Amino acid sequence: MRKQVLTGALLLLAAVSMLEGCERTSSAARVAPAAGIAASPQSAQSSASPSPAPSPDGQITEESGMPVEESLPAAAARRVSALKPLYAVGKGQVALTIDDGPTKDTGKLLKVLKEYDAPVTFFFLGQNVEKYHESVTQAVYEGHAVGYHSDKHPQMAKMSYEEQEEEFNSGLRKLEKWCKKPVVLFRPPYGSYNNDTKLITEDHKMSMVLWNEDPKDWAASDASQVTKSVLSQARSGSIIVMHDNPSTIAALPDIIKGLREKGYKLVTIP
Ligand SMILES: [Zn+2]
Repeated sequence: MRKQVLTGALLLLAAVSMLEGCERTSSAARVAPAAGIAASPQSAQSSASPSPAPSPDGQITEESGMPVEESLPAAAARRVSALKPLYAVGKGQVALTIDDGPTKDTGKLLKVLKEYDAPVTFFFLGQNVEKYHESVTQAVYEGHAVGYHSDKHPQMAKMSYEEQEEEFNSGLRKLEKWCKKPVVLFRPPYGSYNNDTKLITEDHKMSMVLWNEDPKDWAASDASQVTKSVLSQARSGSIIVMHDNPSTIAALPDIIKGLREKGYKLVTIP
C-alpha cells in the first residue's frame, strides 16, 4: 500500500514535470517565430495606420517611429547580392574604358576617338560633370557608353551602407541630367566594393564593370610607355582600364591602330 502511494506520487511528479516541460517548449516555440517574423505583421499594420502604437518589444525607436523604416538599412545589409561584376567582353573584342573624367581634356579625347571611329566606355565622376557637361552630352551623342564612377572617388568598401547610397545618388543625378538618359553601368573607384555596393548597384538597376587589364597609364611618364603597356597586355576579351589624362590621350591613336592590327574589334561595354 505504501509502495503504491509512493509509486502514485512519483507518477504524479513525472506527469507534472512533463507538463512543465511541454509548457516551456511551447512557450519557447511561440517566442521564436514571433521574434523572427515580427517585421511582417507590424509593417502590414504600419502601412494600414500611419501612427502605429509602440510595440512592447521596443521595435519602434524614437528615430523612425515606423518599424519598417527603422529596419530597412539593417535588412538591406543582411541581403546577399547575387550581382556578378563584369571583368571581360566577348571573344575577339577589346573594350577601352576611360575613368575619372570629364576633365578639361575630354573634348580633345573625344576628337581623337571620332577621328579613329573608336568607341570607348567612359566612367565619369559626378563631381566633375557640371563643369564639363558639354563633354558628357557629346560622349553620349557620339555613340560612346557612359557609366558612373561615383561622385567624389572614395573607397566604397570603407563606407557604411548609408554613406555609399548617398555617394551613389548625389553624383548619379548630376550625370543622368547631362546624359539625358538612364546610366546603367557603375565602376567603383579603385575596384573597391563590398556586398552593400553590389546591393546598391542592383537597386539602381545597374551592372558593375571592373577590368582585367590595368596598364597603369596614370604612372606612365609619356605616351609611348602607355601604348607599349596597353598593347603588350591586351588579349581577346580585355576590358582595359585607362584614365582621362594627357599622356593617355596622346597614346590613343597608336593604341587604337595597334589593337586593330592584332585583329581585335573595339567595343563599348554592353
Ligand atoms: Zn577612378
